[in-house]
Amino acid sequence: MTTVAAYAAPAAKAPLERTTVDRRAVGENDVLIDIAFVGICHSDIHQVREGWGKAIFPMVPGHEIAGVVAETGSGVTKYAVGDRVGIGCMVDSCRVCVNCRAGLEQYCTDGPVWTYSAVGKDGLPTYGGYSQKVVVDENYVVRVPEALPLDAAAPLLCAGITTYSPLRHWNAGPGTSVAVVGLGGLGHMGVKIAHALGAEVTVLSQSLRKKDDGMRLGADRYHATSDPATFTDLAGSLDLILNTVSAPLDFGAYFSLLRTDGAMVNLGLPEETVAIELQSLFGNRRSMSSSGIGGIAETQEMLDFCAEHGVAAEIELIRADQINEAYERVLASDVRYRFVIDTATI
Ligand code: NAP
Ligand code: ZN
Ligand code: ZN
Repeated sequence: MTTVAAYAAPAAKAPLERTTVDRRAVGENDVLIDIAFVGICHSDIHQVREGWGKAIFPMVPGHEIAGVVAETGSGVTKYAVGDRVGIGCMVDSCRVCVNCRAGLEQYCTDGPVWTYSAVGKDGLPTYGGYSQKVVVDENYVVRVPEALPLDAAAPLLCAGITTYSPLRHWNAGPGTSVAVVGLGGLGHMGVKIAHALGAEVTVLSQSLRKKDDGMRLGADRYHATSDPATFTDLAGSLDLILNTVSAPLDFGAYFSLLRTDGAMVNLGLPEETVAIELQSLFGNRRSMSSSGIGGIAETQEMLDFCAEHGVAAEIELIRADQINEAYERVLASDVRYRFVIDTATI
């Protein structure tokens, strides 16, 4: 066992503070990773605040982890000391269910072991990436290509794969019109990846204040959802809408923007129950769906795609003692576009 420095919330809604956590001894199939950078995902904030229900405390959040392999177990075949690697939202799953065998470990029928606020197969709580080291089974580790800087790659481990997976599943590409609602951590990756896939990209943001950034990131059109004209101008024009908003929306208004057979895919996970106006879905055989992160193989595919297309996150690098302030800024939609913690400052 190794004791490592970490930042944790001692109780629900409490500010995060410096502490230590124990990491298990490196097992036969494990790698020990020196964490270099970790992104702050809005999901970290939902969970620290117990917005999704009961959580496990103390909580060390962080599931956008990038680092370097420091030690390998005797049975490890995929990674060697010095390799640049990443960990996303899960660190284990049953491996034998229909979804695990299909490379959809995120939908493991037993439930995957989440990177934090979960219980591992050893019966101990999992602690996430706001820490200096982590021990993970090599099958839940991905390789970060040399072309991607580790700090800007960290957010790809959640925000990147969460947008890449539905864009691929719903066939975004040349000739398709994709809108991304919310230009935050997920949203800005959605814009970059949809653009790299060749789709026509529209940003739907609360205001036009980030318009220049949105166009630079790859958008073809940028509209404010506070302007009612947006909903008449774009009516019936979109094939796919990725909703990355962390709060409830007027879903009916967004459904009306879809073409016949268009789909709205919800990635945002608001804490509140939402009401849905079914009339505007029914009109044009539109569908509403959701998508959760992506499997391990698809996460590797996404990293390779990003390296090939020069895509990475736009980040604001912070010290660990700025985490609580960064949370407030994320809640105020004041993030351009992902906070990443330099773990050397923990
Ligand atoms: P984020 O960086 O805070 O981005 C969310 C964006 O939504 C904001 O930047 C803002 O964009 C917009 N927004 C915020 N509040 C709004 C409101 N009340 N009305 C309208 N728009 C609003 O968050 P994130 O890290 O991208 O995560 C977004 C959501 O996805 C969270 O709920 C998170 O838990 C969830 N998530 C889901 C998955 C999954 O697997 N499905 C994975 C990761 C995260 P504008 O300023 O441009 O309007
Ligand atoms: Zn996340
Ligand atoms: Zn499974």
